[in-house]
Amino acid sequence: MNIVTNLKEWKTIRQSLNSKTIGFIPTMGNLHDGHLSLCEKSKADNEITVVSIFVNPTQFNQKKDFANYPRTVDLDCKKLDVDFVLLPEKNEIYFDNYEIQLTETNLSLDLEGQFRPVHFTGMLTIVLKLLNLIHANRAYFGEKDYQQLLLVKKMVEALFIPTEIIGCETIRAEDGLALSSRNSLLNKNQREKAKLFPQLLNSNLSAHDITEQLISLGFKVDYIVEKWQRRLGAVWLDDVRLIDNFRLC
Ligand code: AMP
Repeated sequence: MNIVTNLKEWKTIRQSLNSKTIGFIPTMGNLHDGHLSLCEKSKADNEITVVSIFVNPTQFNQKKDFANYPRTVDLDCKKLDVDFVLLPEKNEIYFDNYEIQLTETNLSLDLEGQFRPVHFTGMLTIVLKLLNLIHANRAYFGEKDYQQLLLVKKMVEALFIPTEIIGCETIRAEDGLALSSRNSLLNKNQREKAKLFPQLLNSNLSAHDITEQLISLGFKVDYIVEKWQRRLGAVWLDDVRLIDNFRLC
């Protein structure tokens, strides 16, 4: 497995791969089986798989959240079995001082956008930069971040980017909690309680009743809504935010 930190080096490598099909998985690291399932899908579909690990500062609303985001690059590289891992430096990615940004003006204002105002502009900008650097045939995104997946698909269509965006199902812990890098920030009690979030979100109760029950259990609820043929939710357990969604039958 080749670990590449320098973008000039990556560009030279990329030229040498021109005849191969390439699958790409952008991540922020602290890898778990959810990320690894995207890698497996890419490996099955493509000759070469590239994973990027970059904790993108521009998509965090709060400095504290960015500072606390779990960073485990060495362990991540041990877990990965792909062809290339790209670990770009912030200064190389944002050599423009983030003076060029990509903003979507409709879907990005909904749901997550109401609670994390700068998030989607930061996310779309970094994904666009990475897609332009990797020139992949396919890029893999989790359905767990459903609004993100919709926005990335919309961006690729709107900007005529020749990478196919593939949505992959959410991988869960045995008790149903969607795997997430932020789960490692939960203490034992919080982790025990967290499993009730997907259980309620995927129940036959109405969105209103789910909200009431979550509040009575001690969750702070940002939203529980039904749209895009999904039921989506975002909640807090103290200062850890969890999001999830299920397809409506
Ligand atoms: P992140 O490192 O959180 O930015 O996630 C990188 C990619 O992995 C995104 O496309 C996520 O949607 C996806 N992902 C995160 N958690 C899961 C999961 N539990 N199952 C499947 N995909 C996931």
